[in-house]
Amino acid sequence: MICISTSAETAEDLRTQILGACENGDAAEVRFDYLPDGERQKALAMIGSLDVPIKLIATFRSPEQGGRGNATVDDRVRFWENLPNGYFAADLEEDVIEHAPAHARRIASFHDFDGTADDLNAVYHRLAGRGDIVKVAVRVGDAPEALAVWNLIAKAQADSKPIIPIAMGDAGKWTRILGPAHGAFLTFASAAAGNPTAEGQVTARELREVYRVSELNRESLVFGVLGDPIAQSMSPYMHNPAFVSAGIDAVFLSFLVKDIDAFFRRMVRAETREAELNFGGFSVTMPHKQSIMRHLDAIDPTAEKIGAVNTVKIDGGRLTGFNTDAHGFIEPLKAKFGSLRSARVAVCGAGGAARAAVYALKAESADVTVLARDEQKAAVFGREFGVDSARLTASVGDFDIVVDATPAGMKGPLESETLFTADGLQGVKLVYDLVTKLTDTPLVREAKLAGIDTLGGLEMLIAQGARQFEIWTGREAPAELMRESLLARMNA
Ligand code: NAP
Repeated sequence: MICISTSAETAEDLRTQILGACENGDAAEVRFDYLPDGERQKALAMIGSLDVPIKLIATFRSPEQGGRGNATVDDRVRFWENLPNGYFAADLEEDVIEHAPAHARRIASFHDFDGTADDLNAVYHRLAGRGDIVKVAVRVGDAPEALAVWNLIAKAQADSKPIIPIAMGDAGKWTRILGPAHGAFLTFASAAAGNPTAEGQVTARELREVYRVSELNRESLVFGVLGDPIAQSMSPYMHNPAFVSAGIDAVFLSFLVKDIDAFFRRMVRAETREAELNFGGFSVTMPHKQSIMRHLDAIDPTAEKIGAVNTVKIDGGRLTGFNTDAHGFIEPLKAKFGSLRSARVAVCGAGGAARAAVYALKAESADVTVLARDEQKAAVFGREFGVDSARLTASVGDFDIVVDATPAGMKGPLESETLFTADGLQGVKLVYDLVTKLTDTPLVREAKLAGIDTLGGLEMLIAQGARQFEIWTGREAPAELMRESLLARMNA
């Protein structure tokens, strides 16, 4: 079941939200703590005359357990003792659970917003004795930390006790998407983007349409992008539609991974993992493209030479690393510029993307110079790849092509930064900014001001993603569909 949490502060809005929940949800969690006293009474009356096809779950959370308002224990006890009929379940914390109405199933729930509860097994056992359904929600900061709450599913199944396990925060998003396939009683979702009632919540429409939670099962292959930060990743919108169109039972999600060693030890490696998630492979992004290499059984020669892995395929328990950034980088560039033989190319930055770019440019016989703000780093990089190097300055007019492989212009603190102004670019024929954005980055704007041709990072993202799909599935990628889905999402 997908349960949509309401966040209405008036009875009228609540009505709209419950009716809206019928579109994509199987249930609605009515958050009575969001409603001020007078509106709460109106809401109870309104719901009494509402006839909807979804299940309603009543919740009146205390402020200590993440609720809105300042209801006292007495207020909540009064509320629960007077709750009318018509609710599928009542979700109560332990302090008021004895006052649960007899006419609704009792969800015994526990929330830990600091992620400090150390014995979740004890919490589970306590709640299992007090509720028909157990709900445990714990905030986590790194994907493997969610295992503690995830593994309560197996315990509850052994006891035939329905359970709602929730790992809150971006790092716990995977539990919300994979939970129902592994036996979670339901998963919570928000009604609209930007309006979650808990951190890490996905919209109900996305759960259904992008992640297809109601079609997934334990055997579905799981793919994911590993990175930190990861909330902005567009990859799920590209890979999930591709799996659907190819008729492959697989799902692609993002994993906020801080400690890559813990992720591989606790979630991937057969000898040490604490859960069976049926991983088929990974996409890897900042900051793990190099550190992941020590966890692999084999590395494809191209990725080895580049010194960075952005793709992992898992086959029969064996992990192989690839690099599709080089391919993704060079294909759109060749399509736009033509032959790169002897073209004078400046690659700005000395990180993972720059490594793939320089490798690919050298393979096309371009005349490459790497520019970095740290001259020493540029020199080391230059020696490793056998290309010229220099410190990044404000002028690059001597080059035919300028590639920006730094995060300048990327969403976040560097969004308004540009490495060069129009003046500093005079003489350049093409500016290629690897940052993926629907709108122009400041650098692309400066290039356009100077009348220079430009290329953004979107085409690279699609081309490297299409190659990833081919590595994972052995099939040709539906690149056009991947582009359309990505653009539709970015436009939205
Ligand atoms: P990375 O490994 O962290 O490397 C970033 C590089 O940029 C480092 O050399 C860093 O220098 C330099 N840098 C950071 N901030 C800078 C600034 N303000 N001015 C000048 N140099 C700066 O990152 P990455 O993985 O290579 O990614 C770089 C960019 O490429 C990101 O924007 C990423 O989104 C983009 N990218 C796009 C695609 C795509 O498909 N379109 C694929 C991969 C990457 P220091 O070492 O001195 O810090």
